[in-house]
Amino acid sequence: MTDKPLEKPDSKIQKVINLCQRRGLVFSAAELYGSFGGFFDYGPLGVELKNNVKQSWWRRFVLQREDMLGLDGAVLTHPRIWKASGHVDAFNDPLVQCEKCKHRFRADHLIEQELNESVDGISEAKLNELLKAHKLACPDCKGTLTDARNFNLMFKTSVGATEDNHAYLRPETAQVIFANFKYLHQIGRKQLPFGIAQSGRSFRNEISPRNFVFRGREFEQMEIEFFVHPEKLDDCPEFDKIAKHKALFCTAAQQEGKRQNQENQAGKGKQSHENKENKKREGDEGRKKNNAIVYAHENDSNGQTMTFADAVKQKIIQTKWHAYWMAEALDWFASMGLTKLRLRQHRSDELSHYAKETWDVEYDYPEWGWKELAGFANRTDFDLKAHAKESGKDHAVFDESTKQKVVPHVIEPSFGLDRLIFTLLLDAHHEQKETKAGKENEEENSPNAAKGGKPAEGQKQKAAGPAEDAKIMLKLAPNIAPVPLAVFPLMKKDGLAEKAREIYAELKKHNPAVQYDESGSIGKRYARMDEVGTPLCVTIDHQTLQDGTVTLRERETGEQKRIKPGSIKV
Ligand SMILES: [Zn+2]
Repeated sequence: MTDKPLEKPDSKIQKVINLCQRRGLVFSAAELYGSFGGFFDYGPLGVELKNNVKQSWWRRFVLQREDMLGLDGAVLTHPRIWKASGHVDAFNDPLVQCEKCKHRFRADHLIEQELNESVDGISEAKLNELLKAHKLACPDCKGTLTDARNFNLMFKTSVGATEDNHAYLRPETAQVIFANFKYLHQIGRKQLPFGIAQSGRSFRNEISPRNFVFRGREFEQMEIEFFVHPEKLDDCPEFDKIAKHKALFCTAAQQEGKRQNQENQAGKGKQSHENKENKKREGDEGRKKNNAIVYAHENDSNGQTMTFADAVKQKIIQTKWHAYWMAEALDWFASMGLTKLRLRQHRSDELSHYAKETWDVEYDYPEWGWKELAGFANRTDFDLKAHAKESGKDHAVFDESTKQKVVPHVIEPSFGLDRLIFTLLLDAHHEQKETKAGKENEEENSPNAAKGGKPAEGQKQKAAGPAEDAKIMLKLAPNIAPVPLAVFPLMKKDGLAEKAREIYAELKKHNPAVQYDESGSIGKRYARMDEVGTPLCVTIDHQTLQDGTVTLRERETGEQKRIKPGSIKV
C-alpha cells in the first residue's frame, strides 16, 4: 500500500514537500527500492532542524523546570503495558476492503473524502450505516466494499528465540511514562504536582498513511504526563503568569452549534450577531493594549479570542492546570514563530474513552484547513488505575501538603514532532518571483559593490540565471534554523579562502552548526542559504584583508553591513 496521492503540483504544501526532497530535509524512506509508505528519512539539514526543535522543547519543559523528570523508555514494550492501557483490545481503526481489487481503506477517511464531512470518533455501526446509505464504492475500481471491521494499529513482533514471546512497538510514549510512574516518583523525590516528560519514536500501523509526514507509521512524540492531586487541578501557582495571554478558542458547544446550524440551515443571523459582539469586545480590549501575547487572528469566525483567565472563569476550560499547559505550549510555539493557531475542544462524540476534557492546538493549513499540532487531555486517574489493576500494585502516592494518599490525576500535553517540523517549514515558506532587473539590483548591493572595486570577472555572469526564477526563502526562527550562519569567501583566490576559513573556524567554536561554502557565485550561495532558512551570512572580501571587517548579510531584509567578525553573536 502506498501513500495517498499528494497535493496539486502548484499548491503551497506540495511546494514545501518538493523543497524538503530537493534539499534533503525530509523525504520518503527507501526510495532506492521504490519507497515505503508512511516512513520518512531526515537528511543532513532535516536532522539539525529536528534536533533544534527537540532540544528547545527539552530545555523549556524539562531542564528549566523544577517539577519535571525526564525519561527515555524502551521502544519495544511489554505486552501487559498495552493490555492495561486498553490498546490491545481497543486501539483500532475501521477497515474496509474492496471485494474486487482487494485494496484496503480507512472507512472514516473514505466517508470524509466522499461526503466532505468530519466523522471523527463515530462508532463502527454508524460508519457502516453511512457507507450503505451513501452507497460508497471502492475509489480505485468502483468495486463493492466490505463492512468496516476493527484493525489493530499496533506493530507486533516476537522477542527471543520463541515465537510466542510477543511484544509491541510502542504506539505512544505516554504509557511508558505511566508504567514508570511508581518507580520515578520514588527515586525522583518530587511532590505533587510534578510531571514526567519523554520524547521518542512511536509506531502505528496506519491503514492509509497520508498527508506526507503528517500521518506516518513511524513518528516522534514529545509527551508530558503531569500528575496533580485530584482535588487540586485548580491550584496552579503559575497560572498568573499566563492568565492574560490570549488565544483563539473553538469550543465543543460552538462546533456542535455549527453542526446544528448546518443541519437545519437556520441560526445564521444569530452567529453573525455573536461575531459582531466578539468584534466589539476585541476592539475594546485592543485599545487597552495589555502585555498579553496574541496568538491568533482576532475575530476569527473559527473561534473566539479571549484570555486564559476568562476561559477559566467562564468554565470554557474546566481547570487551571489544563489551561496553564495550553498557554505554555502556545508560548513555546510562538518562540519558534508559529502563531497561526487556535485551541479546539473535542466534541463529546470524539472524546477518547480515557479523557474527561481534551483540547487540540490546531494550525490553519493551506488546502487542509485546521489540523491538530498538539493535544491536551485531562486523562484523570484512568491510566494509573489501569496499571494498578493489571500489575496488582498500589499506585496511590502520599501527598505531603494534604497528608493524604491519592492516585493523582493527569494533564497530558502531547506534541507530534514530525508534523511540527513540517508545519514550521510550511509556515516559514515564502516565495518571490524574481525579475531580471531585481536580480541585477541585488548584484549591485553585493559585496562586490560594497567593496567599491570592480566586480570579479565572471561573477555576474554566473549569478544571472534564468529570469523570473521563483526565489524561495524559509523565514525560520534563528533558534531552530538548521544552519545558524554561513561563511563565504567572495572568491577562492587572493588568500580570501584562507582568511574565510580562519574566521569560520573561530565562529564554529561558538556554534558548531556554522557552515562554510565557497562554490558558485555569491548570489547563488545566498539563495541556497535563504532556501533553508539560514538567518545570517558572512562574506570575506579584499577589504577584510585590509581592515579585518566582513560583510554580514541578513536573510529577510537582504541588508548588508560591515562589522568585525568578533562582534557576531551566533
Ligand atoms: Zn477496488
